[in-house]
Amino acid sequence: MCYAIPGKVIDIDRDIVTIEYFGEKRKAKNEFFKLTDGDYVYAQGGFVVQKIPTKEALPILEAWRELFFKLKEIDQKLTQNPKNLYEKANNLRQKYHGNSCCIHGIMEFSNYCCNDCLYCGLRHSNAQLKRYRMDTEEIVKACEYAIKELNFKALVLQSGEDYRYDEKRLVDVVRRIMESFPVLLILSIGERDIEIYKKLYKAGARGILIRFETSNQRLYEEYRRGKKLLNRINLIKELRKIGYLVFTGFLIGLPQQTEEDILKDIELAYSLEPEMFSFGPFIPHPNTPLKDAPVPSVDLVLTTIAKTRLMYPESRILVTTALETLDKENGARLGLLSGANSLMINVTPEKYRRFYEIYPDRSGIDITIKDRIKIILNLLQFLGRAPTDLGYR
Ligand code: SAH
Ligand code: SF4
Repeated sequence: MCYAIPGKVIDIDRDIVTIEYFGEKRKAKNEFFKLTDGDYVYAQGGFVVQKIPTKEALPILEAWRELFFKLKEIDQKLTQNPKNLYEKANNLRQKYHGNSCCIHGIMEFSNYCCNDCLYCGLRHSNAQLKRYRMDTEEIVKACEYAIKELNFKALVLQSGEDYRYDEKRLVDVVRRIMESFPVLLILSIGERDIEIYKKLYKAGARGILIRFETSNQRLYEEYRRGKKLLNRINLIKELRKIGYLVFTGFLIGLPQQTEEDILKDIELAYSLEPEMFSFGPFIPHPNTPLKDAPVPSVDLVLTTIAKTRLMYPESRILVTTALETLDKENGARLGLLSGANSLMINVTPEKYRRFYEIYPDRSGIDITIKDRIKIILNLLQFLGRAPTDLGYR
């Protein structure tokens, strides 16, 4: 099992193509390739990311055929007769998205940050953290490995808010990756000038992962001193206007956050028209002012996933690494069974991974990337999920 299935182009309407995966149809936007009916492509996040020769696609599809239908059957069985909240959410996920589940890689290229968010281990004031920065060459090489060797078709490049990566350097990184490798590139670099984001879009980046953290203005301004919630929200709206796919969401279980706040968080995230919801539990870090805060329960996170699915059945919802950290054994499985339909795998080079300590003891830092991929692919087979694209919205 690989984490993308090639599809056949069966219709082209200007830059929107219809792609067929064993009889299932999905739309995708094609900006980069000359396509005709019958071509085979990989799509991610509703974008065509690679055109592949027919003679390469057919054996891959043949290898997939039997498994593809078997997976659908497993997923259908698992979603029959829903009883509790989680099962109802999972049933809706199946109705709206079938068994599609997307897998993105995430690479953390710098843990320097000029901000001091009270909840985060990368905060500037955490003098005990060993800091690292990858240079352009290292980032491009690590992406090459993730895309060519590990087969990822979508990658998130994440960092603290680190201004050593200025406009020129960021554009250079994005351009070099986009010129060399087939990938949907998603950036998660914090609040930057909108003009920089426009240039990064031009260079080929197509997604931004940026959470608003909490819809409660008082909490936002307490935990992110000197920052304004409205500025963050306006930035997210501007990014959408540029054309970016926006991955956004919030932290679950921040001290003082109420159940009502979480409902408002879900509503605010939806109003920002996200490509994908990204919300996860807040996990206290020992070197931060919130070190003694209680750890939220797994149930609270699963309930938030399930409620989001029930409120907005068409959503795409990510299982975050923080949920997998909260319950190392079962977090990913439980998230996927409560309405989520996307996963991320950490592809940060092993020598840096443990220093990207947003919160302690992160899931996946102590095993190799290849082992992690194996575990996730086994889980997806067990749950009957297939890596077909979720399509263009
Ligand atoms: N610096 C960028 C991107 C990296 S931080 C930014 O802030 O947007 C990525 C995410 O980590 C943040 O959006 C926040 O929601 C999450 N995070 C920070 N501290 C955390 C903690 N203690 N537990 C769980 N998630 C945390
Ligand atoms: Fe920096 Fe992001 Fe952590 Fe805030 S959440 S301290 S901006 S890395």
